[in-house]
Amino acid sequence: MSLADLTAAELLDLLDRGETTSVEVTRAFLDRIEAQEQSIGAFLRVEADRALVQAAGVDAKRRGKQRVGLLAGLPVAVKDVLCDRDTLTTCASRMLENFRPPYDATVVAKLKAADAVLIGRTNMDEFAMGGSTENSAFQVSRNPWDTSRTPGGSSGGSAAAVAASMTPLAIGTDTGGSIRQPAGLCGVVGMKPTYGRVSRFGLVAFASSLDQVGPFAHTTKDAALLLEAVAGYDARDSTSINRPTPRYSQSIDEPLKGLKVGVVPEHFAAGLDPEVEVAVRQAIDVYKSLGAEIREINLPHSKYGVAAYYVIAPSEASSNLARYDGVHFGYRTEQTEMLAELASERKELLDAGDTKAADDMDTALVRMYRRTRAEGFGPEVKRRIMLGAYALSAGYYDAYYLKALKVRRLIRRDFDEAFAQVDVIAGPVTASPAFKLGEMVDDPLAMYLVDLYTVPANLAGIPGLSLPCGQTQSGLPIGLQLQAPPLEEDRLLRAARMFEQATNWNKMRPPKT
Ligand code: GLN
Repeated sequence: MSLADLTAAELLDLLDRGETTSVEVTRAFLDRIEAQEQSIGAFLRVEADRALVQAAGVDAKRRGKQRVGLLAGLPVAVKDVLCDRDTLTTCASRMLENFRPPYDATVVAKLKAADAVLIGRTNMDEFAMGGSTENSAFQVSRNPWDTSRTPGGSSGGSAAAVAASMTPLAIGTDTGGSIRQPAGLCGVVGMKPTYGRVSRFGLVAFASSLDQVGPFAHTTKDAALLLEAVAGYDARDSTSINRPTPRYSQSIDEPLKGLKVGVVPEHFAAGLDPEVEVAVRQAIDVYKSLGAEIREINLPHSKYGVAAYYVIAPSEASSNLARYDGVHFGYRTEQTEMLAELASERKELLDAGDTKAADDMDTALVRMYRRTRAEGFGPEVKRRIMLGAYALSAGYYDAYYLKALKVRRLIRRDFDEAFAQVDVIAGPVTASPAFKLGEMVDDPLAMYLVDLYTVPANLAGIPGLSLPCGQTQSGLPIGLQLQAPPLEEDRLLRAARMFEQATNWNKMRPPKT
């Protein structure tokens, strides 16, 4: 057994007792990466040198009996969408292929302050748009349980890295399910906190009213630890909530008495894979056997979540991505060639005597913008920008964007009413287990529909968590989603922990590839 097979809590225990060192731990994970990464492709960059330097630094602190941070000596992988001044931040896009941010995201700064070992940067769908990592400009990631399948997305690299024990902890982001969905498909724990709980300062924005940062781990206990390290008010994020961060890792093992679990009949409608349904229903039975009260509740507007989300998220994206113009930063098209082309086209028109057409030609600047964006963005990102620009345009704004905002309010109200009756809501994360790579890349609508169960939490701003609750006959993980009212991450984690303690699903590991 290698150190890489242990959970973060177990490793921390060994480190604190001086039975191992962070350098040994880091080496164990780097070895695992060496063995597994070729078949998984979870990392865009493994930062072995920096990791070993950080690990040695933490070991020295421990030896010198200095105070160490919450994650002292534990490797953490970070989705390549959070700025880190010591490395690149590409968002898996050609547009930011060489982008080195001048500052750290608050989450990254907090990880460093917590003495984490930043082991590498994980693959994702370009700008976090997608659900399979197939929209990455650089590589696809594979599901460690079956490498012909997707690990999910957009934080697929983070989920796969944890599932394959290439890191005990990872950070992802969730705008419409991008933490919970890959966690579910890879058989690990993933959590989207309340909107505003974790700072987005230094997070490259996709859809600003929905984006949240959150943890991946093998257990809810580890996820609680990582959340505790990165959560908290930040004056540099205007949407950050000014509330103290509870000590999630301290309370995690306290079971909740008199827990009321909400079950939503709409979740079990047509389209749900029968094996997923069985596993989720069995999970609900586990809660019953633990003394929880199971109550039926309704979320009548959640079925419009995907439609509303795919208006709101692209609208915000079209505005957020306007900054990639080839001037401020990021990729810029090859200009010498472009200017030569422009000059020769102009000459051709003038030679033909068409001065009007020559005068009407796009300027060099406009051409530069257009070519930069045509070359720098992949097809899904372009699709989102077009969808969003359309939904926000004069004449369509009321019909699409405003309508979607109204639906969003109804979805939020459904949750308010539900949480007046129950403490948490339990249901599926996705309708099916991990799908095959290539299966849906040419069918954006099918890909969007995968987000059915995850987008409502983002639209409502509530926390949601995915944890393993079963396996299909063919050996693919199945996830259980729990959702709680705003700022009730503590309740959510403890409710999830109760299930985890009563079952063994979190101990499953994929075969080594
Ligand atoms: N799959 C969703 C999308 O493509 C969610 C992405 C996310 O949460 N970042 O928009």
